[in-house]
Amino acid sequence: MSHYDVIVIGGGATGLGVAVESITRGYRTLLLEAHDYGKGTSSKSTKLVHGGIRYLANFDISLVKEGLEERFYFLKNAPHLAKKQSFIIPFYHWFEKIKYTIGLGLYDALAKDKKIGKRIFLSKAETLLQLPQLNAKNLIGSAIYGDGQFDDTRMLIALLRTFEQQGGVALNYHSVTDFIDQDHRIAGVQVLDRLSGKSLAFTAKVVINATGTLTDTLLNKAEPHVQHQTVFAAQGTHLVFDQSLFNATHCLVIPATSDDRILFVLPWRDKIIVGTTDVAVDQPTIEPIAQSAEIDFMLETLNRYTEQTITRSHIKSVFCGQRPLVRDPKHQTTGKISRKHEILESRQGLISIVGGKWTIYRRMAEDTIDYAVQKKYLSPSRSVTRDFKLWGHGALMTDHWLAVYGSDIDIILQIQRETNNFAYIHKDLPYLQAEVIYQVRYEQAKTVEDVLARRTHAALLDAKAAQQSAWLVAQLMAKELNKHEAWIAEEVQKFERFMANFLPKG
Ligand SMILES: Cc1cc2nc3c(=O)[nH]c(=O)nc-3n(C[C@H](O)[C@H](O)[C@H](O)COP(=O)(O)OP(=O)(O)OC[C@H]3O[C@@H](n4cnc5c(N)ncnc54)[C@H](O)[C@@H]3O)c2cc1C
Repeated sequence: MSHYDVIVIGGGATGLGVAVESITRGYRTLLLEAHDYGKGTSSKSTKLVHGGIRYLANFDISLVKEGLEERFYFLKNAPHLAKKQSFIIPFYHWFEKIKYTIGLGLYDALAKDKKIGKRIFLSKAETLLQLPQLNAKNLIGSAIYGDGQFDDTRMLIALLRTFEQQGGVALNYHSVTDFIDQDHRIAGVQVLDRLSGKSLAFTAKVVINATGTLTDTLLNKAEPHVQHQTVFAAQGTHLVFDQSLFNATHCLVIPATSDDRILFVLPWRDKIIVGTTDVAVDQPTIEPIAQSAEIDFMLETLNRYTEQTITRSHIKSVFCGQRPLVRDPKHQTTGKISRKHEILESRQGLISIVGGKWTIYRRMAEDTIDYAVQKKYLSPSRSVTRDFKLWGHGALMTDHWLAVYGSDIDIILQIQRETNNFAYIHKDLPYLQAEVIYQVRYEQAKTVEDVLARRTHAALLDAKAAQQSAWLVAQLMAKELNKHEAWIAEEVQKFERFMANFLPKG
């Protein structure tokens, strides 16, 4: 049985962040993920690195401040996967202009020297020059401000590769099924290797539960006599369209939806992403399905701001995730529940990190390991991640290839030559067949879904094209993984079922 200093359960933003924090402080660290990295919420975000302008309305000043500070480190340490992005808020009433003039002023003031770009106020004519497809009726002007945008699934892989490069061990498709107790303290985990069916056990000084919306499931295992209710799941759905429907370099902020939320229309690759909703769910699930009412609500809201009517038939893909929020008995509305994070310790010493958001993953990780050090479970150490560049950082985000693979681009070119394969996986998708082989060899891609939903963005960019590439991707993978025809057929079928949720009915 292998022994570690730290075992991290969960391979989303939180778990991979904690793993990188732990290994860079010199602790022997193991990370276990039940499915694939990002299979949970972390691959389904709106892809914003932000303080969260809308939380100002809840007077969540410290949360916004923390987000703005972390935005700075996020962009600094992963410049190949995160960039500055301009946002534009159109005004249709004078009170909106006053409200956002004050709000944006405060937002920049809270960012202090870490603010991004300049606030600019535009007239109606200037606004329409920037966004020609915006509904001009009753428009009085707009404001432009700066925030951040990133690539969530590739960020997970950058964290994974950083962790491995530093000597960490990460295993996907390894589910923690139970805990090992020693003198009434958790001293390790029982694990099921879901692909081979083998059972394994690992011990550690500290076990950290970073399982997002499934946090309570593990807490209940650790303390079977208590029914834990620490996490509250709120579902958010995004719609993806061709960029021709709303062509802009700025991200459009729709400031006041009928349920008092902000909706974003973001340029993303050659598409636009519209999101997100915020709907409370009773039972969290790893693979949520967009409710028809959520899709209707977003189309309806979007159409109030666009000249052209956008319908379901324009949708290229739908993706949906559930936020793991810290349960707050004072607030019933999900939008009002704070995005703050909390560290909890069960009586047996299981440390859980809950809540937060992608932008502050590093801070959450630092706080978690600090907690274990303060409790003397780990020897003293100092965090170095504020100034720790992530794997692949040498490249700029504008160049897809370099951004994603850093200097490993040479390996992909080598694979192309070695396999004599210079073709794409699909005529409408920007991914090479050699990339699939690379992802199997170097990025732990084990299923067709891993490749098409999380190593590439195929499922998100164009659900139909992703479905049509499944067979070819399965064949490429089978050759690498030494699998037979039956595996290919099974993988294609599994992927078909998975993709059903990415295409809206009707
Ligand atoms: C719709 C939506 C939009 C969002 N947009 C943004 C945004 O733009 N910017 C931002 O900063 N934040 C955003 N967020 C918030 C952010 O995405 C989440 O806070 C974050 O991804 C949560 O990460 P996590 O690692 O805690 O959870 P997850 O990503 O869900 O990871 C938990 C992992 O634990 C694994 N696991 C569970 N049980 C076990 C077990 N027994 N053994 C091993 N592994 C297990 C799961 O398989 C899963 O992969 C958004 C959230 C949603 C829902």
